[in-house]
Amino acid sequence: MSKLSIRDLPLNDHRVFMRVDFNVPLDEGRVMDDTRIRETMPSIEYALRHGARLILASHLGRPKGKPNPKMSLKPVAERLRMMLDRELAPGENVGFCPDCVGVEAEEMAGKLEKGQSLLLENLRFHAEEEANDEKFAKQLANLADYYVNDAFGAAHRAHASTVGITNFVERSAAGLLMEKELEYLGRAMEHPEKPFLAILGGAKVSDKIAVIQNLLTKVDTLIIGGAMAYTFLKAQGTQVGKSRVEEDKLDLAREILEQAKARQVKFLLPVDHIVADRIEGNAKPQAVSAGQVIPSNLMGLDIGPATVDLFSEEISRAATIVWNGPMGVFEIPSFAKGTFKVARAVAENAGSTSIVGGGDSVSAVTAAGVADRISHISTGGGASLEFLEGKKLPGVEALNSKR
Ligand code: AMP
Repeated sequence: MSKLSIRDLPLNDHRVFMRVDFNVPLDEGRVMDDTRIRETMPSIEYALRHGARLILASHLGRPKGKPNPKMSLKPVAERLRMMLDRELAPGENVGFCPDCVGVEAEEMAGKLEKGQSLLLENLRFHAEEEANDEKFAKQLANLADYYVNDAFGAAHRAHASTVGITNFVERSAAGLLMEKELEYLGRAMEHPEKPFLAILGGAKVSDKIAVIQNLLTKVDTLIIGGAMAYTFLKAQGTQVGKSRVEEDKLDLAREILEQAKARQVKFLLPVDHIVADRIEGNAKPQAVSAGQVIPSNLMGLDIGPATVDLFSEEISRAATIVWNGPMGVFEIPSFAKGTFKVARAVAENAGSTSIVGGGDSVSAVTAAGVADRISHISTGGGASLEFLEGKKLPGVEALNSKR
């Protein structure tokens, strides 16, 4: 990786400001899912073991620039304390500061001993964070000597804690999680092992146009499932009943199909469907086989068994697989089979490098029980999509290069 790593910093006895992604779901002050905290543990432990005085900062939710007790990071500090105690010796505990800037934050950061850490309150309690305000960025930077960004999920945002701060610290480096994300996604986009297959699904073509267009210049095969597929099928002249179609994207879908042909990219769409008259748990699922037409009163809500076979065959041959977006309305069990079977097919190709991103596909591999057989599960939905679009992430660009 060309960016400086936390491993390149002389951490011992230095104050390190680490931007993390602790944007976890809370329910009445309890952390409901600590995945994001666990993902950051390698960087936190690395810093503490190397004698850093660690200052942790994150956003949580959308408090819109004002303090909101419901979005306080205090419960996260408690959870982190429990998680760290198991790993590191007692005493090397986690302090909590009720503001991320100001006199108290400066005092608490100043008093940190080697191997101790301090979690600051939600950065977004200040509107200056999202405005990338220079004065606020300077205040954050004043707390530390070095900056580490481990929040890949926030790297597509140019905020004070992801970009501004880097102008006022001695050195800015990537954390271990950030490094892992950039290595996997970077390798797939720059030097993928071939055949390279991308699987895209989800609700809308319009959300993924830039991803499709960038991937078409890189992949050997593109599989499209989910509601998105129906816009492409209709553009090809297939009758899709009342499936979700973006009428204003039909021309674009035709253009994309032409581009794929010109680039000799294999473009696979569903050939059979599971349909119903509405998107509801009690709707009756029916199969529409290959060659049959989706009746005008029904909508496609999952890929059918022949499509699962077609996609699985392609998945089994790929050396690099990138997957973003479900193959159907997988939140409803009657329409979840296609997505789960695709998840299993990806996991079964043990020789491939598989990368899964986006909240829904990540939940699908977890629900299918195959998460541990995926090479890399990206922690940043929006950030990983922008990466696949070929965009430079401001939070990554702002880090120092190794040179
Ligand atoms: P996205 O956020 O774009 O990845 O879209 C995910 C959403 O797409 C999920 O909530 C799915 O229920 C929905 N979805 C997937 N396939 C279909 C479909 N065939 N019809 C309607 N919605 C779908």
